[in-house]
Amino acid sequence: MVAQVIDGKAFAGDVRGRVAEHVARLKADHGITPGLAVVLVGEDPASQVYVRSKGKMTVEVGMNSFEHKLDAETSEDELLALVAQLNADPAVHGILVQLPLPGHLNEDLVINAIDPAKDVDGFHISNVGLLATGQKAMVPCTPLGCLMMLREHHGNLSGLEAVVVGRSNIVGKPMAQLLLRDSCTVTIAHSRTKDLPDVVRRADIVVAAVGRPEMVPGDWIKPGATVIDVGINRVDAPEKGEGKTRLVGDCHYESCAEVAGAITPVPGGVGPMTIACLLANTLTACCRANGLPEPE
Ligand code: NDP
Repeated sequence: MVAQVIDGKAFAGDVRGRVAEHVARLKADHGITPGLAVVLVGEDPASQVYVRSKGKMTVEVGMNSFEHKLDAETSEDELLALVAQLNADPAVHGILVQLPLPGHLNEDLVINAIDPAKDVDGFHISNVGLLATGQKAMVPCTPLGCLMMLREHHGNLSGLEAVVVGRSNIVGKPMAQLLLRDSCTVTIAHSRTKDLPDVVRRADIVVAAVGRPEMVPGDWIKPGATVIDVGINRVDAPEKGEGKTRLVGDCHYESCAEVAGAITPVPGGVGPMTIACLLANTLTACCRANGLPEPE
């Protein structure tokens, strides 16, 4: 079998297109422009790339982008004061504090200082609790993007066996909650899981969010299963020239694609969907703040 490639890049383009249309209607009918504030502390190169790309796409869909770049020595009080200022600003509907923060800053404290209604990353403890109890929450962008691709591919997920490899608060746990909400039978695997290959082989849906390059080989995959590869790992690529690198996922793409029914590529799978969902969440937050109907 050769897996169908789930084109996250194209799907993300569709999602952004729908967001842009809704934003244009909000402006025309209500004079409202959604605004997303992104806070970056320090100079982590990967974070700088993400923040730049988020800012660019925010503007492209017609939203206001507010970028706050603080130096690496910023104190917790200064950062909390900025978060409070953004919480109070009616032009800001979504707030994202780019993680990881420098070591002297308490991430939980900072994230939980964000107004939950503006917490477009869905990491605030209120949103985590709302999601876990099946209530209306801000849903973390990466798992939301994965769920959208799965729904698009499968239609109904009810009764499917899903294995999520990874139990982080950012990806693994909320992914499992979303799959459970869609009535999958969900297993969360992690570094202490026994017989991981056998656990993964049971799955109709495998979501790999581990952070280990190409860890999941094709012979762990049940024939016809859907593989969602969240991992983004930069590895050496001497075949491209000295000092060159390339991005790979947590799954070994070639061997998994031979067995799976469908698979997301890296790059071009989950990554673009994450940013599209961030914009969709900002639009949702803006609609809720203004008492307007939410986008589909
Ligand atoms: P974390 O490091 O927070 O979590 C990794 C998880 O993988 C942990 O639960 C860990 O288990 C588990 N794990 C580690 N080694 C193994 C192993 N050998 N076998 C089984 N499980 C293992 O990572 P994140 O969840 O933040 O990110 C995961 C990946 O997804 C990374 O590559 C990251 O770059 C990528 N990512 C991609 C995004 C996108 O937009 N596409 C967004 C966010 C992340 P334990 O808890 O036991 O230690």
